[in-house]
Order: sequence, then C-alpha cells, then structure tokens
Amino acid sequence: MSQENIVEVWNDILSVLEKSISESTFRTWIVPLEPQYFDENSFVLHTGHALAPSMLRKNHYPEIASAVKEVLKKDLEVKIIFDEELAKTLSKKSAKRVAQYEKENADLKNKNSQGFKYQYDSLTHMQSSNLNLKYKFENFVVGSNNKLAYVAAQTVAQKPGIKYNPLYIYGGPGLGKTHIMQAIGHYIIKNRPDLKVLFITAEDFVNDVVNALARGDEKTKKMNSFRKKYREVDVLLIDDIQLIAGKTRTEEEVFNTFNTLHGSGKQIVVTSDRTPKEIPSLSDRLISRFEWGLMADIQVPDIETRMAILHNLAKDSCIEVPNNIIEFLATVYSNNIRELEGAFNRVTAYASINEVPLNIENVKNIINYSEKERSFTFEGILDEVAAFYNLSPKEIKGTGRSAKIAEARQVAIYLCRDLTKQSFPDIGSFFEKKHTTILYSYEKIKDELRTNNALAHVISTITNKINS
Ligand code: ADP
Ligand code: MG
Repeated sequence: MSQENIVEVWNDILSVLEKSISESTFRTWIVPLEPQYFDENSFVLHTGHALAPSMLRKNHYPEIASAVKEVLKKDLEVKIIFDEELAKTLSKKSAKRVAQYEKENADLKNKNSQGFKYQYDSLTHMQSSNLNLKYKFENFVVGSNNKLAYVAAQTVAQKPGIKYNPLYIYGGPGLGKTHIMQAIGHYIIKNRPDLKVLFITAEDFVNDVVNALARGDEKTKKMNSFRKKYREVDVLLIDDIQLIAGKTRTEEEVFNTFNTLHGSGKQIVVTSDRTPKEIPSLSDRLISRFEWGLMADIQVPDIETRMAILHNLAKDSCIEVPNNIIEFLATVYSNNIRELEGAFNRVTAYASINEVPLNIENVKNIINYSEKERSFTFEGILDEVAAFYNLSPKEIKGTGRSAKIAEARQVAIYLCRDLTKQSFPDIGSFFEKKHTTILYSYEKIKDELRTNNALAHVISTITNKINS
C-alpha cells in the first residue's frame, strides 16, 4: 500500500480505535493526532500536545497498535511524536477537527449508525507530490559516506534545473537514497511553491505506462494525460530507476520525458541501486542521458555516522537511550540503515511497553543478538577478507609487504574495528601487531574511503558477505 493512502488508512484506523477507546480519551487524545507516514517498520503520528506521546504510550499503546494491525495487516511500531512546529500551526485545525468530530458524532448518534470518516486537508500538498513527511534534509545525517550526494542534493534543491541535471544518486539498499531524494522535493515545495514537484517510484511509473497503453477507446486520451502528468512538472524525482530495465515501452517513455523536461531546463533526479552502466539491458541512449549530469554514490556509513543517526532518532522519539546501547546497535547493524532503524525501533518500543530498563543484556534479547554475534568475530572477518583477496588468513596476519597483502591487512584491521568496535590493543593482539600499527591502518583506510570509490566498493562487498 502506498503512502498516498495514509489519510484513508488513518481514517480506517480511527474507525477501529473508536470502538476500543473511551469516548473522552478518543476525542481528547486520538482525534488531534496527525498521521505522518508509515513504512515496513512503523506508523508515525505527530501530535501538538506535549503530554500525548507518554500518555498514549503508557495507557493505550496496545489498542492503537492493534487497530493499526487490523487495518494494515502488519505488526508495526506506532510512534507518537511531539512536534512543536505542528503544535503552533495545527492547533487551530485540531480544534476544528475536534469540533467536527463532536458534531458528526452527535449526528451519527442521532441516526443510530456506526462509524464515520474524517476529512483531512493538511496533507494535500504533500500528497499531490507523493512525498513522505519524514524524509527531509533536517533529519538526514551527513557523513563521509553520503557527503557528495548530500551536497549535490542541496545544490539541486536550491537551484533546480541549473546544475547537476540529471542528478543520479546510487548505492546499496537502506542507505538513504529515497530519503535524500525526497528531501530535495520537500525543500523545493517549501521554498519554491510556484514549482511543481512529482515523486514517483519506477514501479509506479511502469504501471502508469501499462495503464496508458491498455487497449480500449480511451487509449489516446489516457496516453495524453500520462504525458501531461509527467511532462508538466518542474522537478521530477524517479526512485529506483533500475526497475525499468528491459521494459521497452517504459524506457521509451522515460527517454521522451527526460528529453522534454531536460530540454526545457526542468530538474530530474533519479536513484538506483547501481550505476547506469551496471543496469542490465538498459538502452545506451538512456545510459548516456543518466550520465549527463552528476552521478553521486552513497556508501555504507561509518560507526560515527550510524551512531549519529540513532542519536537523532532517540531525540525525535523523546526516549532516553543510553549511549552504550546506541553504540552497541550501531556496531551490530553496520551496512543498512533501514535495519539499524528497525532494530532501534524494536528495542525502544519493547522497552517502553514492557517498562524494562535499556541495558545491553535486554537489548541482546530483543534483537536476537546471538546469531549476529557469531558473524562478527575477528576470525570471521579475517576469513572473508582473505577469501575476497584470494589470500590465506595466515598471509594477511603475517609480515608480507606486497601491495595486495598490505591492502588486505589494512582492510581486515579496518573491518575488525568498524564492525566489532573492539579496542585497538585487542585487535593488535589478534593480528600480532602493535596497537599503533592497528590505529594507523584503521585511520588510513577510513581516510581513503572518503575519496576512493573502488575501495569503498571492496569494503561494502566484504561487509555484505560477513553479514550474510
Ligand atoms: P534506500 O532508498 O537507499 O534504500 P532509504 O532512503 O529508504 O534507503 O533509507 C532507509 C532508512 O534509513 C530511512 O528510514 C531513512 O530515513 C534512514 N536513513 C538513511 N540514511 C540516513 C541518514 N543519513 N540520516 C538519517 N536517516 C537516514
Ligand atoms: Mg529507496
């Protein structure tokens, strides 16, 4: 189910909740909530009432979560977040809505019927662009892994259509491509309300093409309205473009849309899990179009960036999470921010619902740590590095100085530190090296990663192996 339906989804959830929560609680605490977005892990609501997050979490979490589950058929964590901005701008609206609820409820009671719908208008603008309110620059943590993409995205957001057109952002799953692309959209909607922004997943684009091409009397009309939809925008954001590969008619429409928009100075941003050349069977003419502007990659974030992301989440959710827990989670989940966030959400939800203290032992239980633990031993890391370089672990631990062995050794040391967060002396004793050597190797690779994409690719390939 896509984000555009959040208002309908929330209306359905309200209808369910209405039956399980007392009328006064429902009116005071639930009706004024603003649905924001939902994804595989969570359903997020904002509130302008400072006490609502803790009050609802403590007293009504099970009802809310089960209403969400009933409607979406999925176990999601429900997050209720206090939003000061919203408190100001929406207080009038909320009051209006409460009044509306009271009126409608009275009407319904009179008619002795059940259930009613809420009408929302506050999200209309966002929805016509298909954007998710969560994905903004403000909550995007910048690290050496995504610096280039971030700077390029800001440039594009500030001056759409001028520089970097198209902007092509690529990288592995869960690393923030969609987030940064939507951040561009939000920024433009906020600062240039005169411009029309459209965000679309390549999957939806394909469906649109298929529908427009469907046989029937309306064919020409449908195709015209398809073209109008995509060619009359000022900023077109297409997510996961690799999904159009091999679909000839869709590729053609992307090509034509691209030419029309680009030709009239409109901004195009595309994301993908790989470079244009690496997309199998993508036509040469599209490859060359995508390479016209700037190609910016997003790599796996380092431990500091991962921790910064969790600190942000903790701040947003008003939950106090000790630093050692943040460090622990950031260590365990090293190559996918979506998974890192998912684990964080599970941990904080569990801790607040069950009122257990957040300590490492509890956290390990909540995330089923034991399986993961095995994959992060020094030996395990060394084995994967050795396999990648086609060397033996012994050669890497030895004193050989050939370029290949030296690189493999530094990569192994870097990964041991990055993935296990063990001390330099501990890593030193495993490699039978002085801790200063370990420190030097770690820093060297970390430094190189800022500029050396080939090395970054090596690191992420090996990390994926270790994690699999
Ligand atoms: P992708 O599109 O690359 O698969 P997403 O953009 O969906 O990844 O990101 C996955 C999750 O991680 C999202 O919830 C997103 O907000 C979060 N995320 C990714 N990168 C960052 C970042 N640098 N700062 C904050 N959150 C991030
Ligand atoms: Mg994505």
